[in-house]
Amino acid sequence: MAVELAIVGAGAAGSLAAIEAARRGAQVTLYDTNARVGRKLLITGNGRCNLSNHHAVADRYACADAHALTHSFEVFGVEATLALFSELGIPTYATADGWCYPRSDSAAAVAEILTARLDELGVQVRLQTKIADLRQQGRGWALALGGPEKWVAADRVIVACGGAAYPALGSRGELWPVLARLGHTMVPARPALAPLLADMHALQGLQGVRLDAAVTLLHRSVALASTRGNILFTQSGLSGPAVMDLAYLVHRYPVEALMLRLDFLDGQRPTLYALAEAHPSAPLQLALAGLVPLKLAHALPELTGLAPEAPAGALLTSGLAERIGRLQVRVTGTRGLKEAQLSSGGVPLDELEPVTMASRRAPGLYVCGEAVDVVGPCGGYNLQWAWTSGVLAGRAAAAK
Ligand SMILES: Cc1cc2nc3c(=O)[nH]c(=O)nc-3n(C[C@H](O)[C@H](O)[C@H](O)COP(=O)(O)OP(=O)(O)OC[C@H]3O[C@@H](n4cnc5c(N)ncnc54)[C@H](O)[C@@H]3O)c2cc1C
Repeated sequence: MAVELAIVGAGAAGSLAAIEAARRGAQVTLYDTNARVGRKLLITGNGRCNLSNHHAVADRYACADAHALTHSFEVFGVEATLALFSELGIPTYATADGWCYPRSDSAAAVAEILTARLDELGVQVRLQTKIADLRQQGRGWALALGGPEKWVAADRVIVACGGAAYPALGSRGELWPVLARLGHTMVPARPALAPLLADMHALQGLQGVRLDAAVTLLHRSVALASTRGNILFTQSGLSGPAVMDLAYLVHRYPVEALMLRLDFLDGQRPTLYALAEAHPSAPLQLALAGLVPLKLAHALPELTGLAPEAPAGALLTSGLAERIGRLQVRVTGTRGLKEAQLSSGGVPLDELEPVTMASRRAPGLYVCGEAVDVVGPCGGYNLQWAWTSGVLAGRAAAAK
């Protein structure tokens, strides 16, 4: 007899769990409140679906048990994921820095192909159907459809209900209290990849400027974490991957003690000094204009304590050479779950078996994807976790 498997959530993790389980002979029903499979997938990677990253290994993620995560990735890591996608009809390519995308560059195509594969494999997809509750029933499970009055049975359940980020797309952590009642320590949901709010007083006028920078989050002057990559000045603070990657730390500390250290000239100072020596009486702004966006080049001398019209040579004589391009900004919070690309929180990884995603608290229950407290940086790491954990859960839950 085939295992009757219910999967809650037809996002990235749930869809792949369903495909893997159905390929192993399970009779799968996949539920989602949304009207289509992979609703959130459609907006990933600005519609291009940055679906993995060649550098996605355990130590790039924050979670309760890095050792366990290593096991998960050993069994089903990036290479296995890309091979599976290729097999499913979604060949991929990677950028020079390892970010992976579908050849089609289309998240909509990924969702459409996954939907077709679910159909071919005979997965029953029940859309616009909310699972309101889960209950152990004999050796199996019962799921409450829409409300407590209609229950359906299953041998096993995979919870792939996502987190609480970007709630407009269906994942609101609504099933988390049920997971808590079933014995899991639910870590509260917090924005994990989100733009930061900051005191932009000195940086008025830079809104819209985008560039690569080195970014460090400081707590009482002690560095908590550093990133390097694209940042964007916004009206209320800073955005872009290099800033968003630090958001998961903001809620762990008193916000009044947090600062962001930005270095706009990371690795470029020797070039700037050479320019200043070659053209000492030309405006410093002009030398900077070759290295950073024009608006920032115009603002940097003043932000460093020099006159706006200071000549490039002033850099060499003022003693401010090391300070140019470095800035500290007071952090005041994050943009919140509504605008976050990922939430932290959910089931701690150490309450699951790392190679099967089986709950150590509730037999026959599996949890995967963003509902597990695993946080990766921007760049395909979080979809990779959804695929890895979804496949592991699907395989294990289908096993007789
Ligand atoms: C704007 C944006 C851009 C992003 N870009 C990227 C990117 O390029 N690369 C990357 O790696 N990550 C990206 N992410 C993060 C990525 O989308 C998530 O990590 C991933 O979607 C998590 O997959 P999941 O299946 O766990 O959850 P989800 O994709 O959120 O799916 C969970 C599903 O469960 C359903 N559900 C929830 N509760 C119930 C219930 N009670 N009953 C029935 N159904 C339920 C929801 O409707 C939802 O469809 C992005 C996120 C956002 C918001």
